[in-house]
Amino acid sequence: MTDHPKLYEGKAKILYATDDPAVLLTFFKDDATAFNAQKKGSIQGKGMVNCAIASHLFQVLAKQGIPTHFIDQPSPTEMRVKAVKIVPLEVVVRNLAAGSLCKQTGLAVGTPIQPPLVEFYYKNDDLGDPLLTRDRLFLMQLATPAQVEQLTTMALQINTILTQFFQACGITLVDFKLEFGLDANQRLILADEISPDTCRLWNQTETDPARRVMDKDRFRHDLGEVESAYQQVMERVLAH
Ligand code: UDP
Repeated sequence: MTDHPKLYEGKAKILYATDDPAVLLTFFKDDATAFNAQKKGSIQGKGMVNCAIASHLFQVLAKQGIPTHFIDQPSPTEMRVKAVKIVPLEVVVRNLAAGSLCKQTGLAVGTPIQPPLVEFYYKNDDLGDPLLTRDRLFLMQLATPAQVEQLTTMALQINTILTQFFQACGITLVDFKLEFGLDANQRLILADEISPDTCRLWNQTETDPARRVMDKDRFRHDLGEVESAYQQVMERVLAH
């Protein structure tokens, strides 16, 4: 842990300042929430597992030319990141129908989505992170048209890289959420985390709809064996 001032405590992470104003320290907690924090709990070892997975995936993406906030991982539960101004949008990419998409459209779980869907949600817990239309997004000045175009392009590039990466791990990347920030040069870079908390991941060796789940849906829907599923994702990710 750190003696540095705490800047912000979120549901799954704590953000600390460092001696360098351009660098922040993220501490990954074991705390887990779902359904806009109506369900609260803890997943033992999650902080370490998510920090390891996210650090690895940020490096995979950086190697493929995606700018990210990742600097390094000074301890198993800590990540040093570039200080950015977070864009208050949750960018969701979907390859197969699941979660809120199925609830809102009636599409069957697992329906292939081609081309992948890119959606923007307003990052605002008080409002329950609502799905935005482009017009509402512009109305609220959450991003410019050029930024929306760039976010869409980056989200699809990240999807291509991660889909291929998880495929090699025997895992189907169903959907995921990204957050971006503006760096000191007003450049959009990938921020936050990519982990089983923020992705739907299905084990390709399982067909049973409950057994195949390797992500936070195990916690959301009380499917059990949450810790071992996260652990399994980490082992496969770190081996690739
Ligand atoms: N997601 C997330 N944080 C959120 C909302 C969604 O990380 O605040 C992720 C979620 O884990 C899934 C994807 O984004 O991988 C799509 O989520 P969806 O819209 O289906 O919402 P949910 O079913 O979680 O309500």
